[in-house]
Amino acid sequence: MRSLIDIVDFSVEELYGLMDTASDIIAHPERYADACRGKKIATLFFEPSTRTRLSFEAAMLELGGSVIGFSEANSSSAAKGESVADTAKVISCYADIIAMRHPRDGAPFVAAQNASIPVINAGDGGHCHPTQTLADLFTIYREKGRLNDLTVGFCGDLKYGRTVHSLIAALARYTGIRLVLISPKELKLPENIKTEVIAKHGMEYVETSDLEGAMPALDILYMTRIQGERFADKDEFLRLRDTYILTPEKLVTAKQELAILHPLPRVNEISVKVDDDPRACYFKQVSNGKYMRMALILKLLDEAKRNPTRVPLICEDGAKIIRNRMRCSNSRCISMVEQELDQVFKLTEPEKRICRCIYCETKETATEEDLK
Ligand SMILES: [Zn+2]
Repeated sequence: MRSLIDIVDFSVEELYGLMDTASDIIAHPERYADACRGKKIATLFFEPSTRTRLSFEAAMLELGGSVIGFSEANSSSAAKGESVADTAKVISCYADIIAMRHPRDGAPFVAAQNASIPVINAGDGGHCHPTQTLADLFTIYREKGRLNDLTVGFCGDLKYGRTVHSLIAALARYTGIRLVLISPKELKLPENIKTEVIAKHGMEYVETSDLEGAMPALDILYMTRIQGERFADKDEFLRLRDTYILTPEKLVTAKQELAILHPLPRVNEISVKVDDDPRACYFKQVSNGKYMRMALILKLLDEAKRNPTRVPLICEDGAKIIRNRMRCSNSRCISMVEQELDQVFKLTEPEKRICRCIYCETKETATEEDLK
């Protein structure tokens, strides 16, 4: 049995497999109309995200299955203090697969370690949102016919944008990807992503604050929302705000084959005047997301049927595990609130004694004593 917690849990080949299935569903929806007859998905949304929940529910219904679940934490047992582990065990008795959204980093990982059915991470705090990345990758693949040899511009909030970080991590596994990172200086891509993802995979990148200057080179433009509250200086925000709004005028120098993506919801960062441009792909991206979720549900249910044993997620790569000797410093980590959860770290860089929390991947440095 497999779960999907982080996009890199799946190999490049597996992702191509999912995209092939999604393409086949689009071409022949009638062949899949009863594929999940009698199966139930539980959508466990501990924080509201209506569009993601509806996408999972529509995906399961179009496969002939049915849906149970809740859409906010105060209508669930979590409000009475039930642990994520117990919720996962209970729901395993009712459903065949779980899609979980949770405000805490690592909660779906804890669920996957305790459920006897597959778990899909539908967004955990600031950590991962792998099914959005599936939608993004599939949209690029459908529009360009490839995931290699592309110049990909990311524009807007590159500092806090979880979808940007996940898509960069996913693209790092393909060849010939050039990144153009377009943002105000306050919202530049974090250094750790540059060193641990971009440099590690030898990706080419440039940073600029000039969207119009970057435009002619781009094959893909991934727009994100800039939130005013991210700026210490409000005047600076007001001065910059319009610079990063995509308008038809700014697209004059763009390639005819450009594909414009956005994880949605948009506020005003893409003018509605761009919506009729054939290069606007952000509504197709929503539809592609549903088809990829259908392909994902099929794959995980099939793997669970063939091999019902849970794969222990933490010891796949043989790294040393440190249990209950260090504490995670990330205040959003699930281990901060679930009192009986073991504090588990993986030794990722033994020479520097650097460990990562298995729930949220926060880096901590171990002492010699911790490693004994
Ligand atoms: Zn943690």
